[in-house]
Amino acid sequence: MPADHDGQVALITGAARGQGRSHALAFAELGADIVVCDRCEDRPAVGYPLATEADLDETVRLVRSTGRRCIGVRADTADRSAMNALVERAESEFGRVDIAVANAGVAVAAPIQSMTDDQWAEVIGSNLTGVFNTVAAVSGGMMQRGYGRIVTISSMLGRAGNTSMSGYAASKWGVIGLTKSASLDLAPFGITVNAVAPGNISTPMIHNDALYSAMRPDLDHPTAEDVAPVFQSLHAQPVPWLEAEEITRVVLFLAARGSSHISGTVIPVDAGNAARVTA
Ligand code: NAD
Repeated sequence: MPADHDGQVALITGAARGQGRSHALAFAELGADIVVCDRCEDRPAVGYPLATEADLDETVRLVRSTGRRCIGVRADTADRSAMNALVERAESEFGRVDIAVANAGVAVAAPIQSMTDDQWAEVIGSNLTGVFNTVAAVSGGMMQRGYGRIVTISSMLGRAGNTSMSGYAASKWGVIGLTKSASLDLAPFGITVNAVAPGNISTPMIHNDALYSAMRPDLDHPTAEDVAPVFQSLHAQPVPWLEAEEITRVVLFLAARGSSHISGTVIPVDAGNAARVTA
């Protein structure tokens, strides 16, 4: 049975589209008021289009269509003051933040020998500093209220490496270390902190021309069908990618009121690839 979130407030970063939007809608459907942010801006260091303001507006519209309230803000998670301001606004308008999902992230692909400072700074800024800023911003209010459910989004590359992914993998390994340490800091205050480690999820992060071409350099204009076997080889089960809702299910589980004694864990949702890494 999905948990009931009536009367709660959930904050989700990077929710203009993809997994973040799926999480926001699910919490709204279960009764929570929603706070979402997204940077809504392309970055030179990222080889595919990021979300737009229209995407963010659409998430807000979809959440409101469930009957719940929604604050949607254009904000960069790498900016500490922007995240503090977002949480202050959420607490002043909605009274509280009970649940935070640190979901915003980018994939940057470059071999270590040619990765630029900008690429490194972007992927560490969005994926690791952004998670720190989100967790740090919500934890003060959660401590005062003695309640919180924080879910961070790592990756199957948070427990392994891959070619051209040293920055991304470093950021996602970092998310796991941050999550475990934050869970200990916040354990006395009724706050849980857990990570989800997705495999290939069917969002614009993987369905884009740059990644398709990197995966099939032998083809001029590779299609989803052309890259599916390559994606599938990263999983153990014979499936190239999973839908965002599969991650949402686990986020909902970790964010449930009843999951009060699960903290400091990492739950992989990666079509069995977890069996290939230690612990
Ligand atoms: P996505 O690109 O559709 O969504 C990511 C969103 O985050 C975008 O809307 C983007 O604009 C936003 N964003 C990026 N940097 C931001 C920043 N600094 N501040 C605010 N917003 C920012 O991709 P997704 O698959 O929904 O990704 C969600 C999370 O899941 C990410 O952390 C990603 O690393 C992780 N993940 C994805 C996959 C996958 O295969 N798609 C696999 C493992 C982990």
